[in-house]
Amino acid sequence: MELHRHWKTGLYGPLWILVAIGCFLAPTLILPALRYEFFVGNWIAYPAGAVLLLIGAYTIRDHSKPYLLRFDETGVVWRVSNAHGAVPWHDVVRFGLEKKPDDAPRVKPKHLTLWLRHPLPGAGDPDVELQGLAGYRLAEVGELVESAEQIVAGLRRYTPALETVTGAAGATAFVEQFGGAPASYGDRRAPAEGECAVCGSAPASFVVLQSVVSAAVFHWTSAERGWRCRDCALATYRHLTARTLLGCWWGVGVIGGPVVVLANRLRMRPALRLGPPQPTPGVAALSPRPLDPGPRVLARPGGIVGTLVGVVLTLLVAFVIFALATT
Ligand SMILES: [Zn+2]
Repeated sequence: MELHRHWKTGLYGPLWILVAIGCFLAPTLILPALRYEFFVGNWIAYPAGAVLLLIGAYTIRDHSKPYLLRFDETGVVWRVSNAHGAVPWHDVVRFGLEKKPDDAPRVKPKHLTLWLRHPLPGAGDPDVELQGLAGYRLAEVGELVESAEQIVAGLRRYTPALETVTGAAGATAFVEQFGGAPASYGDRRAPAEGECAVCGSAPASFVVLQSVVSAAVFHWTSAERGWRCRDCALATYRHLTARTLLGCWWGVGVIGGPVVVLANRLRMRPALRLGPPQPTPGVAALSPRPLDPGPRVLARPGGIVGTLVGVVLTLLVAFVIFALATT
C-alpha cells in the first residue's frame, strides 16, 4: 500500500510567501491606512517579512522533494524530506496509527508510527526514544489522501500481528480477532493509554498540570499532560506547584498563580485515588521505575517561601482595603 500526501499540504509554503508579501507592503500601504504604528517603528515589518520569506522558500523546497511512504509484503519504505529508510517486517517491532503521549483520551490515533529496536541510520533522529525502542512518526492522517480506515485496512492486510494494540482490553480483543498474542511480535512497546507515559506502570490516569512564574509584565507557563501513574503524577504535581508558589508572585503571575495552584490540586484527585504503580511487562518507557514523589510541597524550600510571600501579600492587600474602607 502506497500512501500519498494530500494536495493541501502544498499550500503551506505559498501561504507563508503571501504573509511575507503582506509584511513587505505593510509599512507603506496597510499600516498607514489603518493609522497604526508599532512602538519600535513600522520598519520592523521588513525583517519579519524576510524571515517569513525564508520559511516559505524552505517549505516549498521541502515539499518539492520526492515523497514516498509504502508498506507491502516486504516491509516499510519511506522518503520524507531528508529522512529515508527501508526496514523488513522482522526488524519492525510495531507499526500502526498511534496517539502522541500527550493527546487527550478522546483524540483519535492519527500518527502513523514505526517502532524499531534501534535508531535507523539515515532516518534522522527518532521522534520518540525509549529504552530499547525508537519511534518514527512517519505521517499524520490529516496530511494524507488515504483515510485512517484505509490505512488500518492496509496494515491489517500486511501486518495482522503488528496491529496497534492499546491497553489490556485492546490486547484481549486482538487475541480474539487474530488468535495470537501481540507480544510475539511486539516484544517491547511504548506505554499505551491507561499506562504511565513516564515509567510504563499501571494503573494511570490522564492528568494536566501547569506551572506559572512571572517577572514584572512577563510570565512563563509550562504544562505537563498525559497518562501518569500515582507516583509520577505526584512528583510532577509537587514540582510544578512548588515552582508556581515560589515564582508567581513577582509579576503578572500573581493573578494566575493561585488559580494554577488550586487547579493543579483539583486535577490531581483522580490520580491520587489510583493504587500503587505496578510495572507492565513488555512496556519500554522513559524511566525504568516510577518517579520519586519527594517531599510534600510545604516541606520544600520553594513551597515554604512561596506560601509565606503569598500570605504576606494577601495580608498587605487586606490591610490596604481595610485602611481605604475606614478612612
Ligand atoms: Zn509512572
